[in-house]
Amino acid sequence: MPIEFESNICARCHKSDNEVGKIKLRKEHKINKYLCSKCFEKAEKPYTAICPKCKRVAHEYGGMSAYGERPPFEDMCVECVEKKEKRVAKRNALKLKIKNFLIKNWRFWIGTAIALIVGFGLLS
Ligand SMILES: [Zn+2]
Ligand SMILES: [Zn+2]
Repeated sequence: MPIEFESNICARCHKSDNEVGKIKLRKEHKINKYLCSKCFEKAEKPYTAICPKCKRVAHEYGGMSAYGERPPFEDMCVECVEKKEKRVAKRNALKLKIKNFLIKNWRFWIGTAIALIVGFGLLS
């Protein structure tokens, strides 16, 4: 099969250039396929998508991902997901720390109050 023949058929939608227009060898982003312009746009999308969070090309930062345990998921690059997860983990750890601190102190103050009441009771 001569190479020239391949170039007349889109490698993705398998349509001829009569149907879908010019088919070119696309070497961008290591695609390396004969694609019509429509399929090239689709093939290129993961590489050109911009992370809405950091406004960078998501492909260069681990690719496009999504954050959230249930929908609606927040679209962002992998790096932003990792950052967010770290932030949330840190926040949860801090919350736990504050909670433990309050519980500890609550016990301390109740203990002090009881000691005072008992102390006053002994005095009177
Ligand atoms: Zn195509
Ligand atoms: Zn990002």
